Amino acid sequence: MCPTDTSPALLPKSDAVERQNAHLLSLRHLDPFSMKFVPIPAGEAVCRVHAIRGGVMDASLGIFEHGSKEGERVPYGIDFFFLIEKLWNDGREPTRMLFDLGLRAGGFDKPAYKYIEKTWTIDPGRGAAKILESMNIPVESIRAIILGHNHFDHVGDLRTFPPTADLIVGPGTTDLAGLANEMDVPLKTLEERTVKYLSRERDKWKDVGTFRGHDYFGDGSLFILDAPGHVPGHLAALVRTSSSPPIYHLLASDTAHQITLLRSPKNPSTTRKRYAAYPKFGAEERDGVVPLDSMHNNLEEAYRTIAKAERMDLEDNVNVFLAHDWTMDITLGGNGGPGAGPRARVLAKKEYVTLEGTKEELDRFKSRDWQHMKYEVYSTALQ
Ligand SMILES: [Zn+2]
Repeated sequence: MCPTDTSPALLPKSDAVERQNAHLLSLRHLDPFSMKFVPIPAGEAVCRVHAIRGGVMDASLGIFEHGSKEGERVPYGIDFFFLIEKLWNDGREPTRMLFDLGLRAGGFDKPAYKYIEKTWTIDPGRGAAKILESMNIPVESIRAIILGHNHFDHVGDLRTFPPTADLIVGPGTTDLAGLANEMDVPLKTLEERTVKYLSRERDKWKDVGTFRGHDYFGDGSLFILDAPGHVPGHLAALVRTSSSPPIYHLLASDTAHQITLLRSPKNPSTTRKRYAAYPKFGAEERDGVVPLDSMHNNLEEAYRTIAKAERMDLEDNVNVFLAHDWTMDITLGGNGGPGAGPRARVLAKKEYVTLEGTKEELDRFKSRDWQHMKYEVYSTALQ
C-alpha cells in the first residue's frame, strides 16, 4: 500500500500546524487504575516535611490547560519547594535536604526569564536561603538538594548554598555545562560540589506504588521517584511522615501544572480535567489555526506520569503535592481569594507549613474543596 500522507515539511504551514495540533490533542489522560500499583512498604523510619512558599507567579490559565476560556487566569501560581528532615531515633541531629529551590530572589538575567517577566507577574520572594535562615535552618546544614527539574522556577540560586550541599538530579538531565546554564550559575558552582546523576541502570530502584523509586536512606522514609515527561530528568519524591498510621506526601514538582490535570473524575472533589496543551507563546494564527504546544517535553510520557501520581493520590494515606498547586496553598493558609496574585506571598499568613504527618492533617490536605474554588470567581480580580 502506498502511503497517502505527505511529509509535514512539504505541507503548507497551516496543515503542518493542524497535524501537530491533532497529535497533541490525540494524546489523552490515562486511567489511573490501569497503572501497576505495588503496595508502599510500611516501616518505622520517617521524615518531617515543610512546604515552603518559594515565590508567586501570576499567569493566564490558557497556558496550562487547553479549553480554558479567554481571559481566564490562574488565581495565582504559587511556587512551592520543600525542606525534608530525616529524623533519627538515636539522638542524632536530623539530616536535612531540600526538594527544589523555588524562584530566585531578584529574578534571572536570562532572555527566557525576561520574556516571562514581561508577560506574567512574578514575585520571586526572598529566595530559599533567606527563608531557611528565618526558620533557623543554617544553609550549612543542608546535606543535599534534590532538583525536581532544571526550570527557572525550581532552581533558585545554588550559589547561596555551600559546596557541602550535594545536588541530586534525575536520569537524562543535561550534562554539567548544560545544567549550569539552566540553573544560571557558574560551572564552578557545580564542579565544587558532588552532583549525583541518578541512573536507571546503575542505581537501585524498586517499585513503590505506581513509581520506580530510589530508596535514599535505605529505610523507606524517602524515595526519589523517576517521574519522566515534563523534561528529561524530572523527579518526584515520596516521603513518609508518619509510621502508624503510615502517611506519605508525594512531592510531584511539575508532573502537572494544575490540580485539574491530575485529579480523577472518580475523585468527588474534581469537577473537570483538561488537556495539558496550550496555544504556543507568541504564535500567530494561520488560516484560523492556532498552533498548540505543551508544557511537557514528552506529553505522552507526561500523561503516564500524571496517571501514576493520580493513582497514588487516590490512596487514602498519600497526598500528592504539585509545585504550583494553589488549592494546596489555600488549604495551608495562604490568601488565594479574590485579589490574590503576587500580593498573595506578602499576605500569606505563613511562609512555610510543616506537614505534620497526622491523619487529621492529611485529611485536611486531601479534602481541598475544589467545587467551591472555581476559576471564574477570581478571573476578573486579577486583570
Ligand atoms: Zn514549575
